[in-house]
Amino acid sequence: MIFSNVTQAPADPILGLTDAFKADTRPTKVNLGVGIYKDEAGQTPVLSSVKKAEAKLIEIEKSKSYLGIDGVQAYNQAVQALLFGDASPIIADKRARTAQAPGGTGSLRMAAEFLVNNTSADTIWVSNPTWANHQSIFSAAGLNIETYDYYVAEQHDIDFDAMLASLANAKAGDIVLLHGCCHNPTGIDLTIDQWRQIGELCVKQQLVPLFDFAYQGFGAGIEEDAQGLRTVAAQVSELIVANSFSKNFGLYNERIGAVTLVAVNSEEAERAFSQVKKTIRSSYSNPPAHGGLIVSTILADAELRAEWEQELAQMRSRIAQMRELFVATLAAEGVTQDFSFIAKQNGMFSFSGLSKEQVARLKDEFGVYIVGSGRISVAGLTKANLPVVCKAIAQVL
Ligand code: PMP
Repeated sequence: MIFSNVTQAPADPILGLTDAFKADTRPTKVNLGVGIYKDEAGQTPVLSSVKKAEAKLIEIEKSKSYLGIDGVQAYNQAVQALLFGDASPIIADKRARTAQAPGGTGSLRMAAEFLVNNTSADTIWVSNPTWANHQSIFSAAGLNIETYDYYVAEQHDIDFDAMLASLANAKAGDIVLLHGCCHNPTGIDLTIDQWRQIGELCVKQQLVPLFDFAYQGFGAGIEEDAQGLRTVAAQVSELIVANSFSKNFGLYNERIGAVTLVAVNSEEAERAFSQVKKTIRSSYSNPPAHGGLIVSTILADAELRAEWEQELAQMRSRIAQMRELFVATLAAEGVTQDFSFIAKQNGMFSFSGLSKEQVARLKDEFGVYIVGSGRISVAGLTKANLPVVCKAIAQVL
């Protein structure tokens, strides 16, 4: 008997919340825990551009035989163009290699496994705070985790000098995890000048940036959101990007993302990438096809692409509208505390500043579910549930 001594794993801090939400029988319950976009009706429908691409794919699909280890080639090229821009010298000089992978999570894990098994890297620096799963992914792969200062709760803002000061302690060959845009959980991103300084620091201290890019298009726009990544990529010789299309294509359960490695030249990129493929081969062999085919079909077809860009813009502007309305509704509920910072944050989340105790009361007394850190998924707010949420917050403050 080997299972009887296995200990119970703790519930995942974010997905565990969804289980508790499902078990809640109160009709007015609201789930603002997990980062899933909801439309004004509180639904997460399949994008129309995705439906059309799927119809096309079913029509032309001839086989379900295996993809290569790195997935759909047209998809990988399209990913590089989205990340670096069509005219990027990184693409022209063939310094990048991309492997389609299962979601942002799978991409991050493959990047970490590759680093641990093939390079001198043994430590990764993540922001304080960061997405909870970063710790789990990187420690599972065997990286040591250090944190760099990022957010100052009292000011609801970044302390960039403190970020630079922490990273000054990193040693040559360390990895720095950077959120490409829409920082999770704080919603506060670096300015282009700050990105440039991070690039300079990476060059000076020989640190390798690993971009987690899960929200392209959810901040200011598809191109705009890539400017930080492109600024740093133009400075450094080596870089990894783990991107996800879960949110911006609404393809959450298709598990579609990519790991992209940029090396100093094409020959080195090819050699390093052979080890990324070896890592994938021993993990899941090759990726599922459907998500990659949907994305590459949409991006290659001018009409579908335009429709997707419009749908993405709609999601982005609804979230921005909810931010404004959230601040206004809190004030209307008589909250005098300043929550105007919520309107300045980017992406799906708002770092509310609510305490653990307040978060627990929101759940227990009002059926409003948010993450223990005080992170609220603004993308889950609607005109219908805002009054419930804001009344509850007014009560617990
Ligand atoms: N990185 C960050 C910062 C995220 O917020 C998420 C999704 N919550 C991911 C990566 C992973 O996304 P996926 O669902 O595609 O694995």
